[in-house]
Parts: sequence; C-alpha cells; structure tokens
Amino acid sequence: MVHLAAVKKDDEVVDHLARQVESIGGPPDENDYYTNVYGSHFAADHMPQHEMPEREMPRQVAARLIKDELSLDGNPKLNLASFVTTYMEEEIEQIMTDSFSKNFIDYEEYPPLRRDPEPLREHDRPPLQLPHRSQRGKCHGYFHHWFLGGHHAWYLGHEEALAKQAAVQVCWEKAARYFDIEERYVYCTDSRYVIDPKQAVDLIDENTIGICAIIGTTYTGEYEDVKGINDLLVERNIDCPIHVDAASGGFVAPFTVPDLEWDFRLEKVVSINVSGHKYGLVYPGVGWVIWRSPEYLPQELVFNINYLGADQASFTLNFSKGAAHVIGQYYQLIRLGKHGYRSIMVNLTRIADYLTQELEKLGMIIMSQSKGKGLPLVAFRLPPNNNRVFDEFAVAHQLRERGWVVPAYTMAPHSEKLQLMRIVIREDFSMNRCDSLLTDIKLALQTLESMDEGMIAKYKAHIQSHRAHPRNKRTHHAYHGEKHSLQGKTGKTHGVC
Ligand SMILES: *Cc1c(COP(=O)(O)O)cnc(C)c1O
Repeated sequence: MVHLAAVKKDDEVVDHLARQVESIGGPPDENDYYTNVYGSHFAADHMPQHEMPEREMPRQVAARLIKDELSLDGNPKLNLASFVTTYMEEEIEQIMTDSFSKNFIDYEEYPPLRRDPEPLREHDRPPLQLPHRSQRGKCHGYFHHWFLGGHHAWYLGHEEALAKQAAVQVCWEKAARYFDIEERYVYCTDSRYVIDPKQAVDLIDENTIGICAIIGTTYTGEYEDVKGINDLLVERNIDCPIHVDAASGGFVAPFTVPDLEWDFRLEKVVSINVSGHKYGLVYPGVGWVIWRSPEYLPQELVFNINYLGADQASFTLNFSKGAAHVIGQYYQLIRLGKHGYRSIMVNLTRIADYLTQELEKLGMIIMSQSKGKGLPLVAFRLPPNNNRVFDEFAVAHQLRERGWVVPAYTMAPHSEKLQLMRIVIREDFSMNRCDSLLTDIKLALQTLESMDEGMIAKYKAHIQSHRAHPRNKRTHHAYHGEKHSLQGKTGKTHGVC
C-alpha cells in the first residue's frame, strides 16, 4: 500500500527551525563532523522531514542516521504475518546487489535476462518449469509463455464480469476498478472459506470474462477446487476461462501435492500468476504470470518498441523495473532445483503440522488444512468460552510485545464475525523458532488469563491508544473511511501478504 498516511496536513508541518533547542554553547561547526557522526551538528539537529534540505550532508552521516532510524523497525524474521521472503543465500545477495543498476526493461542489452523457456506442453507438466535456453528467434522472448514482472495477473477483457470468491486479495479489487470490470463474488460462509464451484459457475453470463480461483487463500491457505469449477464448465459446455491466482501456492502445491490438479492439466485454466517473492523464495519485488499458450495473451496488449536500442516487445503495466529480483529467481530455480524446493516445502509443511498439533493441545480451533492440503500456515482462533474476557486481538498484541508479529483478522464478508489469527511458516521458520513462538504463545495466554475484567478493560484501552498513536496511523486523513472496497463495505480485514 502507498504510505499516504505519512503525508502530513499543513498544520502538522512544523517549522523545524523553531524546534532548535537552546542548549549549552553553540552548535558544532558547520563542517565539523570529524569526531564522528554523533559529534557533528547533524546528530543534534532534527532530521529533515517535510522539505528537501538546502545543503548536502556527508554520506557517512546520511547513512548512519538512516540506519539508526531503520533500526526501530520490527524484525522481518519474526513477522509471521507475511508470506514474503526474508532469507536468501549470501552468494545471490551479492549478485543481486551487483545488479541494482540493471533495468529489467533493457533486457535486450542483458541476454541472460532473456532466456526463453521451452514452450509448455499443455497437459503433462506441472506449471512451473525451469527456464530453458532455446533457439533464439523462435518467438519474441518469453512473452508467449512466461512473463516476469513486478505485478500480478492483469486479467484483461473487453467485456464485463469476473467471478471470484470474496476472500480475494485486494489486487483483484484494484484490477477490476482500474479496468472497469464488474466483479461478482461467491461469498464465504461461517464454515466455508473457499469458493463454491457451483455458485461460481452459476454466476456466469454472456459477459463473463473469467473465473478467478485461488491456490492458497490469504485467510486460511486453502486450495480452492479449481478442478470442480473446470469440470462444471466442461459439463455444462460453458465457454469461460479460469485464471488461477497461485500467488502463494504456485511454488508449494506442485511439490507437496503434485497430484492435485489446479493448473494447465485442466483444460479451462488459461493463465496462472505466482509470486516469486513468496514461496518462490526471492526477496520482495518479483511476480510471474504464465499463459497456457500465445492465443490467451491478446496480441493487442503486446507493444513493439525500438527506442531502447533494439526491437523488443513489451507487455508490462509498469515499464522500468529492477532486474535484480529476476536474477534472484533464476538463482533459486537452478540452485535448488525441484528437489530443493520439495525439501523446503515438505519441511515447512511438517513444521506447520507440528504447530497445528501444539495449538490444538492449547484448545485452539484450527481453521487451516494440514498435511500439505493447504499452504504451510496455521490459521486458528480461540475456543468459544463465554467466561473468557480477551480475544484474538489481545493475544496478537501480547505477542507483539515479545517481538512476534502474528496478525488477528476478521474473516471475509458474510463470515466476518469470525476472528482468527494466522501464522505463516516461511523458509527461515525452523522448528527451533517454532518452539520459541509456542513458548511465547503460552506465556501470552497465561498473562491474559491472569487478568480480571477490570485489567482487561484497561489493557484494551492501552491497545486502543497504541493503535491510535500517530505512528501507527494506517490511513491518510483525506482518504479514511472509504466505502467502495470489500473492506470499506463489509468491514472485512484484508489479509496481510
Ligand atoms: C500475495 C497474494 C497476492 C498479491 O501478490 P503480491 O506478489 O504480493 O503482489 C494476490 N493473491 C493472493 C492469493 C496472494 O496471496
């Protein structure tokens, strides 16, 4: 999300000259930063916040001040809310750093960025294939089969409706808004958090451009029944394509449940998106879209350009983009191979199963799947108990005080009375870390259980004031209270990704 909240109202912009503190003696000399950064006048000045300063500052000073400010950030490794990669090997980190100055859009100048994959054969392979070197000139780069980009599937059509389930990630709402596509939702219920194939297919009319199903929903990590939708479409002889949003599950399901059919083995599936920076194991900034065959990527969306020094075809919404993450993805694919990905995904699934078991022992109600039937995450809620005076949000806050970020949510529309917590098991979440987390969850519960109603009320007020603190403000004053999105209309919390 854009950090609109950081944009200040005019009356919040303080003239920082007026904030200079009168103190002993004069400030250090303008150019006196030889002692070290903290002996220079910069250390005793306020950081420029609202205006670009007139004068330069030495690079060591700028770097140190920013580093110090960033040290207040949470520890990404303890952020169990996010699917996004927090660990890569040093070897590739170095190569990625060395590639910062490469623009992905200039791939004509950087031949290795332009590896053509072997065309995907339609029915007989899992969707994720290692890029292959193939004969140059066979097609324009990989556009026909693969597309690497910073963004996700933009399922464009000339008509109107797109059917999907209401726990969709917000990117789908955005796409529908930007391209003026009418959305039709299959709503979740208190006991079903995935799409109902029949309801989805019943929503189709002559203007429907596609059905979007999710492999690894944001809330509970479940794999939706893509085959069920496919088979109904075939049975009823309906000409409507399926797009699979496999942002989170595209690099998991092929390794943990290879027999699950959700990809091009199903005839109605024409495109799939997957986030390289989730279980593709690359740092944030890369996503992929794969089309079944060239005819599904409309010709009129591919633009031929020659002003970057060579003829090239462009299919992107954004133009320039760093190439480092594409290189990072290439490394992970050849470094790990299918065996490596399988080993990692199987380990994560085992750890998720262990965590599930331990949370069940604590009485939690588990809302996610185990044994690889869904993503390696655990979604759970507190057991129903009328005497309990705290909720999932209080547990989340307790864990936060111990450094862990474990989000509490309200469920998707029509089941939003349900609150849940979610722990995403990422590559660097080893069993040892899992045990530390479990210890802290037990402590958090003990602490909350030892509070009586009066204390809990005070604690809730404390959480509330913490949330209301300007530093935790999430929306910009000019844009808060929007009523157009699923969240604005229904109070659904958007899952964190
Ligand atoms: C994360 C996620 C997205 C968005 O993907 P990004 O790579 O973070 O842009 C879309 N859909 C689902 C199901 C997701 O989990």
